[in-house]
Amino acid sequence: MKVQDVSNLINEWAPLAYAEDFDNVGLLVGDPHQEVSNILVSHDALENVVDEAIAKNCNLIVCFHPIIFSGLKRLTASNYVQKVVQKAIKNDIAIFAIHTALDNVEHGVNFGMCKALNLSNTKILSPKQHHIYKLTTYVPHASVKSVTDSLFRAGAGSIGNYEECSFEAKGQGSFKGNENSNPIIGSRGTKHIEPETQVHLTFEKHLKSKILQTLFENHPYEEVAYEITSLENTLQNVGMGMIGQLDKEMSELEFLAFAKDQFKTGGIRHSQLLGKPVKKIAVLGGSGAFAIKSAKAQGADVLVTSDLKYHDYYQAESRILLCDVGHYESERYTKNLICDYLTEKISTFAIILSEENTNPINYF
Ligand SMILES: [Zn+2]
Repeated sequence: MKVQDVSNLINEWAPLAYAEDFDNVGLLVGDPHQEVSNILVSHDALENVVDEAIAKNCNLIVCFHPIIFSGLKRLTASNYVQKVVQKAIKNDIAIFAIHTALDNVEHGVNFGMCKALNLSNTKILSPKQHHIYKLTTYVPHASVKSVTDSLFRAGAGSIGNYEECSFEAKGQGSFKGNENSNPIIGSRGTKHIEPETQVHLTFEKHLKSKILQTLFENHPYEEVAYEITSLENTLQNVGMGMIGQLDKEMSELEFLAFAKDQFKTGGIRHSQLLGKPVKKIAVLGGSGAFAIKSAKAQGADVLVTSDLKYHDYYQAESRILLCDVGHYESERYTKNLICDYLTEKISTFAIILSEENTNPINYF
């Protein structure tokens, strides 16, 4: 199995197209055609993790955070990022980062947090916008089934728990080919009227080239008439954060003690206690101040996240308990999720969970 094959497997589980625009995910270092010996799974790819990979005969590190985030202009081992990249290259070790691609799926980082807090009835807190496209095309009646079936197979027509969703309307199309045309119906130079079906299907943005290729391969016309439009609808099962419910109400202090224990954190920084029981809990692994508004809008009693600044706590406005459990701590179950998935999918070599602690923050 090559690095590219592992990359494809990860892409099926946490599509890189779901990553945020600011992010830098995928294969960051290494040759996609290199055969994989073993995989080391880590939260961060630091120099000690590269050393661990060398010691454990792993030539691919699959990590959560991207070690290269804002670009590299030189490779002179003058800072920790350059040292990692240089050492990895010297030792033929590839580095693959998942980051927000895994933040944005239902079974990712925030699923790990929900599981740690035993939340039920979970759903995405901030569903992804501008991610759904609609294809409209015009097909002669006899070819409607073969064209729509091929588009369904390519991933179009999925809405939530439903597949093969489409809408059809019958009408008629007209066309007149020039001297260079080669029409399959009618003849060049003569206007032709053909009974056609207008077919509408939605699909996810990252499937665009696959959907178009499928359309062109399966539509009978020489020139295919089609439109693609971007929809304002949100993708309900993809997005940042999750929200769910505790089985039983807890007091705020009981919840803080529970969360401190579950996330194994040295301390929780929190907003003012409101003196009311908590049940509805929003979570967002990593830096999550941007989710305060959504959590409040959805009536969450608590938001568990990290990297909250002084002024962020004011946004609680006596409506929600904001909890900063620590960045690493909020994402601490992520590497286990990655390891479990790769172990389930790959049996020809070892998937090893890193033993290195990469949390840069300590508590006194
Ligand atoms: Zn993070």
